[in-house]
Amino acid sequence: GDPYKFNKKLKFPSQLLDAIQEGDPLRVQQLLQGSDGILQQQADGEDRAWREALNLAIRTGGGEIAGALLRYVKFDFRQIHEALLVAVDTSQPQVVRLLLERLDQEKSLKVDIKSFSLAFFDRSIDNACFAPGVTPLTLACEKDLYEIVDMLVRKGHAIPRPHTISCACLECSNGRKYDLLKFSLFRINTYKGIASRAYLSIASEDAMLTAFKLSRELQCLSCKEPEFKPEYLSLEVLSQEFAFELLGMCRNQSEVTAVLNDLGDSEEEEELDSQAFEEGIPNLARLRLAVNYNQKRFVAHPICQQVLSSIWCGNLSGWRGSNTLWKVFVSCSIFLTMPLLCLVYWIAPKSRVGKMLKIPVIKFLLHSASYLWFLIFLLVESIVLEHKHHIFLGRSQPMWENSLHMVWVAGFFWYECKEVWIEGLHSYLLDLWNCLDIVILSLYLASFALRVLVSGRGHLHCLDAPSSPECYYFTRAGRHEWQPEDPQFVAEVLFAVTSMLSFTRLAYILPAHESLGTLQISIGKMIDDMIRFMFILMIILTAFLCGLNNTYVYYQESQRLGNFNETFQFLFWTMFGMEEYSVVDLPQYALAQFVGRALYGIFTIVMVIVLLNMLIAMITNSFQKIEDDADVEWKFARSKLYLSYFREGLTLPVPFNIIPTPKSLFYSVRGIFRFICCSKPKRQPDYPPIPTIDVGLGGENRRSYRLQVIKALVQRYIDTARREFEESRRKDLGNRITELNKSVSRLHTEVKHLHHSPPARPAPASPPAGASVLHRYILRVQDSVQNFGQASGGSGLGSPAQVLVHQARAAGNDPQPDPEELSLGPQHTMSPGDGAEEGDQAGEPEDPSPCPAGEADSGPSL
Ligand SMILES: [Zn+2]
Repeated sequence: GDPYKFNKKLKFPSQLLDAIQEGDPLRVQQLLQGSDGILQQQADGEDRAWREALNLAIRTGGGEIAGALLRYVKFDFRQIHEALLVAVDTSQPQVVRLLLERLDQEKSLKVDIKSFSLAFFDRSIDNACFAPGVTPLTLACEKDLYEIVDMLVRKGHAIPRPHTISCACLECSNGRKYDLLKFSLFRINTYKGIASRAYLSIASEDAMLTAFKLSRELQCLSCKEPEFKPEYLSLEVLSQEFAFELLGMCRNQSEVTAVLNDLGDSEEEEELDSQAFEEGIPNLARLRLAVNYNQKRFVAHPICQQVLSSIWCGNLSGWRGSNTLWKVFVSCSIFLTMPLLCLVYWIAPKSRVGKMLKIPVIKFLLHSASYLWFLIFLLVESIVLEHKHHIFLGRSQPMWENSLHMVWVAGFFWYECKEVWIEGLHSYLLDLWNCLDIVILSLYLASFALRVLVSGRGHLHCLDAPSSPECYYFTRAGRHEWQPEDPQFVAEVLFAVTSMLSFTRLAYILPAHESLGTLQISIGKMIDDMIRFMFILMIILTAFLCGLNNTYVYYQESQRLGNFNETFQFLFWTMFGMEEYSVVDLPQYALAQFVGRALYGIFTIVMVIVLLNMLIAMITNSFQKIEDDADVEWKFARSKLYLSYFREGLTLPVPFNIIPTPKSLFYSVRGIFRFICCSKPKRQPDYPPIPTIDVGLGGENRRSYRLQVIKALVQRYIDTARREFEESRRKDLGNRITELNKSVSRLHTEVKHLHHSPPARPAPASPPAGASVLHRYILRVQDSVQNFGQASGGSGLGSPAQVLVHQARAAGNDPQPDPEELSLGPQHTMSPGDGAEEGDQAGEPEDPSPCPAGEADSGPSL
């Protein structure tokens, strides 16, 4: 063509928007058509108008019109990007494909996909109701449009991971400086895409592992960026839910085994695999990862629970089904025969009894029994103290008589050391119960050490000079002569506190029982609430303490107030109504008495009426919250308990574990021997091969098998989601059609009524025609009732709206059913739907109205 034509730019045709609105592709084509096949440039300054035209074309659902626009006009990259967002927003895969193809042709524009994904764009996109950071891919992910996500991912689109919150790179610091809100929104919107089911299932190799990691990441983010905590937490719930549902897609045991046992290639793998389990127990690395990552829903999934409890009972398959009485009997007999059982295990760990003791549930009972024995010994010791009161008054008490519990303490100490050795210090300290164990043990040891100190010093002093006052002080002095900070005082107090704390370790055992475990979790959460409450309580108490003390400190007449210690006690017991109110009286000094009484009154009201009741309300509330998902919480706690008993070693319960077994003696001798001979011991495999169908396969094959399984699970998941989506849409349409049918039948009876009643007006030529129109119309409705099952996808989008419009018009006609209007209505609205041609039964509610063909036929005959 001539250069003039080539340079000419297309002005925006004013009727274009109307043509698009009407949905007339021919007219659009006429308006845009140039002479040759070359794309026409847009005239300057009309960017906005073209943008709107293209978006409108996509929104009105005409793939054809959008195609025409793209065919004749040269759109630039940003316009197409926005159009792509609109197409994704309205869920039209065909249009998305069209735009993507177009974008491919625009490659000459040198727009790389990375910057496209980043989409830190100008204001014009901000006007277009899409938030910063929303790209076609994130939008499609957010809406869970699997088809479009798949298409985009294939085209090479990806969601880049946002940098960490505290990232100091140039890009981040600029972003923060330039627009902080945009920066944060960008991050959230990106995570919205990453955490969506569609993206997790399509874009990641191991969807389950990705979901775990993402959930943990989001948990961290919700703490680091507390302004957006609810947003992050809701995303976190979403990704937890995803892993949960994915696991639910497993169909047989070998799939479950493959999914739960191995971990991907990551650094966590090594840490988790380093903990060996008992022989014959699969390593459950992924399940343990889920426990570590706090994936409560996942761990409480029936599939996980089934695997865990089957391992828990080992080959005692009868245990799970047996009744409570039998279980109690077995537990009691283990409790009583514990020393005997331990002896058998000590001598012959590979015997039948020895192997039985290694079954987790028996191991658990054995350890619980040993702990109960320890507590019983503590109680017995306190009773002995009470009865032999005279002996324990002074220094003369025998050191060993009340130190029997130290045997257990030594056992616990050794046990904890082994635990640290097996788990590694880091993961050992992560469990707060272990920290409590350390505290208890060190208190016991401190108390014992102080007593050793007292008797040691006494012994030494008396050895040097038997008549010195030191010798007298440490051996024969009476309790009243001791200094207030005497080591024995401290030791006794420490022992008292520690023996109380020892009972808290029963909390290890309780999760094994359903209702006790649930209750324990509730109490734990309540204590959590209490601590926060205590903080406020302390503030208020201190305030009043200060006020009352300062009021009374000048008056000698007041006996108790005016002294910090006494005032504190007074206020504390007032909370429980255990003090005399007359304490605040100060008859000689009216002003001080008035102020003191007023302060006291306000304190009572604030404490007793407001705060204590608030505490009760808080506790009720948190109890209710726990109760709501008590099942999940309990199962999670129980799974932790189960897993801790699956570990190798630590079979012998506490007081017996300090006696070295022949087995360990043999190993240590062999170790020493090898060390001397300088031959490096061969490393044993850390865990036994997993008993699955692919025992013979190597690690690489197992890995690929696992990935295959996960792929299959994801596929099933996507299929299910799609089915559900279609189902809900169908139901929705079904309801609308039923309503429509009702109104049509009502209309029909009204028309019939009209035909019957007024014979006054001579029937014009139209009634038969009108009736036949009505007939056709009803037939069409019937048709569409049967056909709209396949009115899914892009083409179906229009139909529900059409139906609605139609129904509204039909209803509007009711009051004055003029036959002419009636005949007009259907023709206007009932343009054959897009899906109406594809004849396919979709299991729709067969129209329930009694009106159809037969009655309609009777119309013309009248
Ligand atoms: Zn950065």
